[in-house]
Amino acid sequence: MDDASPFPGPTLPVLDLPALHANHSGCWLRMRGGATNAVGKGEAIVTAADTPLLILNAPLVASRLGYPDLSGLDLLELYAFVHPARFVVPTPKGLAQALGLAQPTGDADVPLLLQQAAAALLAHCGAPDWAEREGAWTALQGLAKLRWAWAPVLATAIEKPARAERWLFSRLPEWEETAERPQPAQVDLLQADVLSQLDHITGHGSESRPGQQDYAARAAHIFAPRTARGAPHMLLAEAGTGTGKTLGYLAPASLWAHASGGTVWVSTYTKALQRQLRREARRVWSDSNRVVVRKGRENYLCLLNLEDALQGGFGGRAAILAQLVARWAAYTQDGDMIGGDLPGWLGTLFRQRGITSLTDRRGECVYAGCPHYRKCFIERSARASAEADLVIANHALVMVNAARGKDVALRPTRIVFDEGHHVFEAADSTFSADLTGAEAIELRRWVIGPEKGSKGRRRGLSARLADVASYDEAGARAIAAAREAAEALPGDGWLQRVVEGEPSGEIEQLLAAVRATTFARDESGGQEAGYGVETEAASLDGPFIEAALAAGEALAALRKPLIQLGLRLEAIMDEPPDWLDGQGRARIEGARSSLTWRVDLIAAWEALLARLSGPVDPGFVDWLAVDRADGREYDMGLHRRWVDPMQPFAATVLNGAHGVMMTSATLRDRAGDADWDQSWEGAVARSGAQHIEVTPEVAAFESPFDYANQAEVLIVTDIPRGDIPALAGAYGQLIEASGGGALGLFTAIRRLRAVHGRIADRMARNGLPLYAQHVDPIDTGTLVDIFRDDPHASLLGTDALRDGVDVPGDSLRLVIMEQVPWPKPSILHRARRLAHPQGGQAHDDRIIRARLAQAFGRLIRGRGDRGHFVVLSAAFPSRLLTAFPAGTPVVRCTLAEALQRLRAHASGGTSPLSQAESSAQSRNDCQNG
Ligand code: SF4
Repeated sequence: MDDASPFPGPTLPVLDLPALHANHSGCWLRMRGGATNAVGKGEAIVTAADTPLLILNAPLVASRLGYPDLSGLDLLELYAFVHPARFVVPTPKGLAQALGLAQPTGDADVPLLLQQAAAALLAHCGAPDWAEREGAWTALQGLAKLRWAWAPVLATAIEKPARAERWLFSRLPEWEETAERPQPAQVDLLQADVLSQLDHITGHGSESRPGQQDYAARAAHIFAPRTARGAPHMLLAEAGTGTGKTLGYLAPASLWAHASGGTVWVSTYTKALQRQLRREARRVWSDSNRVVVRKGRENYLCLLNLEDALQGGFGGRAAILAQLVARWAAYTQDGDMIGGDLPGWLGTLFRQRGITSLTDRRGECVYAGCPHYRKCFIERSARASAEADLVIANHALVMVNAARGKDVALRPTRIVFDEGHHVFEAADSTFSADLTGAEAIELRRWVIGPEKGSKGRRRGLSARLADVASYDEAGARAIAAAREAAEALPGDGWLQRVVEGEPSGEIEQLLAAVRATTFARDESGGQEAGYGVETEAASLDGPFIEAALAAGEALAALRKPLIQLGLRLEAIMDEPPDWLDGQGRARIEGARSSLTWRVDLIAAWEALLARLSGPVDPGFVDWLAVDRADGREYDMGLHRRWVDPMQPFAATVLNGAHGVMMTSATLRDRAGDADWDQSWEGAVARSGAQHIEVTPEVAAFESPFDYANQAEVLIVTDIPRGDIPALAGAYGQLIEASGGGALGLFTAIRRLRAVHGRIADRMARNGLPLYAQHVDPIDTGTLVDIFRDDPHASLLGTDALRDGVDVPGDSLRLVIMEQVPWPKPSILHRARRLAHPQGGQAHDDRIIRARLAQAFGRLIRGRGDRGHFVVLSAAFPSRLLTAFPAGTPVVRCTLAEALQRLRAHASGGTSPLSQAESSAQSRNDCQNG
C-alpha cells in the first residue's frame, strides 16, 4: 500500500526519518524518502530493532506488535518537551488536531503524518512565538547527557540563548503569606437575587429551565445562618441528568461567598466532574484566583523530590522523565500531576511509578526546612484555598480536612457534595483501619528512614528533627525510643520472608499468622482463580491471638514515644529558643501534625488488634485478607470498617458544618413497589443526618430529557452466563452494529480481557478501534479522551468507567453491560446485608439498581443524545427495571433482534422508541419489560 490517498500531506515539510504505525489491524512503515507500505509484524520489529523509527505512543505500539523492547523516537515525548502542560489526545488524529495538520484518512496515512508532525514540532522550536522556549535549551543539555533519542534531532532546532536561562527553581513564583481571614458574615440570600445570579451565569436570554431555577432556590437554603450548634442546614437534592445542577448550586454559592467573605467547598467523587466544575466556575468567577482545585498532597509535584531526581536520584528512562516533568513544572497551572495539566499519558511512556515518586506520597515533607518551601505547589494550593471563594475538592479530602485540619479557618463549613451517592463509599475508606504489610513498612520508613542502599532523599525522624534532638534531651530520647520500637515493623523484603515462613519482628509474625489463617479458611474459590482471599476475624486460635497481642504491644511501644515527642515539640513551640526562626516553627508545626495522624493511625491498629481477643463490637466489621493479582501476593493484613461509616462522617464533617448539600442524579433507590416519597428514607439514612439528629430537607427534580424518545434499554436474553465465546461474540456484533461508539462495562477484569482478546483484531480491521482499561498501557483519563475524540472507537472497562465518563454527543451511543452488576460477596458485604433493615435482598437490589442507574446515566448527557443500553442477561429480575428513568422503553429480546434495532438506529432516522414500539408489537418473543 502506498500513499496514494486524498491525504494532502506530501506537500508539507517532513522529518525524513522512517516512521511506523501499528494497531490491531496491521502495521504501516514509511522508509526515508519512500512510500508507505503495509508490513507484517515481523518486518516491523526487525526494522525497529535496526533503525530508530518515528512512532506515536511507544508502549501502545509495543503492545500491538507484541514486542515489549520497542524503542524509537516517540512523538509524544517530543510533544511533551515542546509543549509541556498542553493538552493533546495521544492518537494520530489528536496529534494532527493539536498541530493544525490535516487528519489522516486511514492507517496508511499515519506514518507520513508522524513525519510531518515531527517537522512541525521542530519548526516550532525555531519560531519566535514559541511560548515554552524558556528553559528548553538548558533542559536539552541535560537530556543529551542522558542520551535521549530526540536530543540530537532537537539540537539542530534549538539555538543557544544569548543569556543564560534561569534555573527552574528560581523561575517559579513564590506564594505570599496573607492575613488570617475573619469568620464569614451571616447572610440571608434572597430568592430574587439567586435567580438573577443564575440568569446571569447561564447567560441572559438562554433557554429558561424552571427545574434549574427551583434547584438553585432550594440550594440557597443551606447558606442560611445556622440556628443550633452541631446542626447544619442539610439538603438532599436528587436532580436528573440535564437539570443543570452545577450552575444551579454555583449561583447561590457564589452569591454567598461574595456577601459573606467565606469559602464554599464543592466536593466530587470523580476527576471528570472536577474538570467540568473548573470549566463552569469560569463562567461565575472571572478572577481565577477565587477558585481553587484542591487535592490530596499525593497529587502534587514535590519540588524537592524533583530536584533530587534531576541530580542523580533517578536513573535510565526515569531520569528523562524527570527532565520532561521539570519542563512541565515551569508551565503548569498548579503542579497537579494526577488529573491536572500533566498529560496522563506521560507516566505510561516511562512507567507510572516515576510520576508517583515525584509526588509527596509518604508524608516526608520537611516543610519550612525545604529550600523550595516558598514555591511549593502544595503549600501554594493550601494557602490559595484559604483565600478562595470556591474550593473544588474530592470527598476523601473534605473528610480528611474536617477530621485532621490543623487550622479551624481551613475546615470546610459550607459543603456541596456533588456525586453525593458516593459519599458513603468515600467515608467507608476514609474512616477505615488497615494494618497491612504495605502500610506498616511505610510507617517504619517514616520513623527510621529508608534502608541502607536505597536511593533518594528520604530521611527518618531523627534526621528531620536533628536540631530539636540536639536542643532538647527529652525530645532526643523520644526519637531514639521511637526508632528502636519501629524495628518491630516490617522492613524491606518482608513479603518474601512472610511467604517463606521466616518472619522477622512482631508485625511480620502477625502477618504470617494472617496469611496462614486466611488460606486455611477461605472457601471463596479465589485461591484457585488467583484472586485475593479473605476470612472473618472471628474464632481465631490461641497462637493467632498471641501474635496479635505481641503486635499490639509492639505498636503501643512505638506510639508512646511518638506522643512524647509531640509533647516536646509543643513545649518548644510554647517557649521557643532563640534559634527557632519562622521557618523552624513551620517545620515543627508540620512535624507535629504528621505525628498526630500517625499516633491516631497506630491507636486505630491497636484497637483493631485488641478486639480480636475480646467480645464482638457490632459497630464494626473486621477481617483478614491476602491481596493478590494474577495469583501473585502483594499485600496482607487486618482490616476494619464501620458497619455505618456515616457515623464517623457525621461526627467529623456534619457536626462542624453550617450548611451541607448532597446532590446527585441517583440519591434515592427506585424500588418499584415502595411509595415514592418513602424512598427518601434510605437516602436520608445514607446521609448520616440521623447521627446528629438533623432532619434534612429533601427535593427531587426530574430530568428534562425525553427518555422515551432518546433511549432504549435492551435486555438480551440468549447469552448464557459464563459462556465467554458467546459473550465476546455478542460484544463484537453489538459494536459492529452500532458502528462503534460503545462503552462496554464489566464486573471482572478477567472477562474484560478475554472479550477484548477475542474481538480487538476483528474490530480494528473493520475500522472500529477498541480500547480497554487493564489491557492497553494507557491511563483511564486518556482512554476516555481517546474514546471521546473518535466516534468510531469503543472502550471496555470496569467500575471507574461506570461513573467517571462524561461523553455527550455522538461518541457514546451504546452502553453494554456484560451481566447484572451483582455486588461482590465479600465479608464486608455480608455484614452490611445483615445490618440492612429490609433484609439482604433489599440491600443487594439497592446496590444493583444504583449501578445500573449510574451506568445508564453515561448514555444520555444532552438533549440531542440518543442511544441504547444493553444488558446481556438471560434472567434479568424485573424488580431491577425501576433503575432506569421513568418512561425509558425496556425490551427483552434475543441478540439478533437487538442487533436489528441497533443497525436501524445506526443507519439513521428512527428513534429508539419508535423502533421499540413497532418491533415489540410485531414479535412474540420480544416482550416489553
Ligand atoms: S515543602 Fe515539602 S512538598 Fe513542598 S517541595 Fe518541599 S519537601 Fe516537597
